[in-house]
Amino acid sequence: MFPAAFEYRRAQSIDDAIAALAEFGEDARILAGGQSLIPAMRYRLARPSALVDINAIGELGYLRERNGFLTIGALARDFALETASLIRERYPLLADTSAVVADPVVRQTGTVVGSLCHNDPAGDWPVTSLAARAEVTLRGPNGSRTVAIDDFIVDSFTTAAGSGEVATEVRFPSPNARTAGSFQKIERKVGDFATASAAAYLTLAPDGTIGKAGIAIGAVGPTALRVAVAETLLEGKKPTKELIREAAREAEKLADPTADNRGSVEFKKAMAGVLAGRAMTAALGRLGVGGLE
Ligand SMILES: Cc1cc2nc3c(=O)[nH]c(=O)nc-3n(C[C@H](O)[C@H](O)[C@H](O)COP(=O)(O)OP(=O)(O)OC[C@H]3O[C@@H](n4cnc5c(N)ncnc54)[C@H](O)[C@@H]3O)c2cc1C
Repeated sequence: MFPAAFEYRRAQSIDDAIAALAEFGEDARILAGGQSLIPAMRYRLARPSALVDINAIGELGYLRERNGFLTIGALARDFALETASLIRERYPLLADTSAVVADPVVRQTGTVVGSLCHNDPAGDWPVTSLAARAEVTLRGPNGSRTVAIDDFIVDSFTTAAGSGEVATEVRFPSPNARTAGSFQKIERKVGDFATASAAAYLTLAPDGTIGKAGIAIGAVGPTALRVAVAETLLEGKKPTKELIREAAREAEKLADPTADNRGSVEFKKAMAGVLAGRAMTAALGRLGVGGLE
């Protein structure tokens, strides 16, 4: 099907994009990789009055470490993360995620920031971003603001971004030597959205206990979900098999999926627990904590 008619503007700068959003009004949308927006328009699930294309704003394609954060510009594609040695070496949680989003063709154009703005309940980046406590920067007519991911994610396909705002970047805290994460996903076939997914981001204290934990699950609720009870359970304790099992059970309890052609409610709930357990174990493995008792 063809999309409904729309106006189109190719912005040359962020200010230009903000001005175009103001000019076209609240039904205008930013066009980044187009991997979610264009299919939605073709199925007439989205009918924006105008598209403000940001692809000519070359300055938004960055991936850089600065002031204790990895900052990912709004035009950094999944493929750029998948192939960057900085990401593979310093941010394995993000490398895990970028390698399993959709398929290589989609990853060539789809952006991390676009995925967060789309906020699909089965999307991969919201899960990883919750676990690692990312922050999204929004710029609009009244200036710039930075929003914690927990506040950015509002509801299915709904975020805290206002209709006149451009999300310019997402930033992830840079890990210290005692921090590691892992993203786990099951899908029916390569390239599919998750049947269920989970991310863990763990920091060990000098005494070997878990100092800080970030645990999130995806595709099993209206949005990606933070498993706060599991985080509290883990913090201050020495990692053991039983502790991980208990925390994984909290993920399973929190999961509230709907049945569809990817699986039943029971299956998805069970998988949320299994994947959360695997993510914690893999994160600890990356920290040299293996063979748990
Ligand atoms: C076949 C297929 C399989 C897929 N499988 C997966 C999968 O397994 N896992 C997964 O996570 N995703 C999957 N996706 C979605 C894909 O990852 C998209 O790329 C991503 O969701 C959106 O990024 P985008 O840059 O293409 O955004 P777009 O499609 O351009 O935009 C998406 C939405 O975000 C808004 N937006 C985008 N950028 C900004 C910005 N900077 N500021 C404000 N608003 C903005 C747009 O207005 C729009 O509403 C799949 C897509 C396809 C087509």
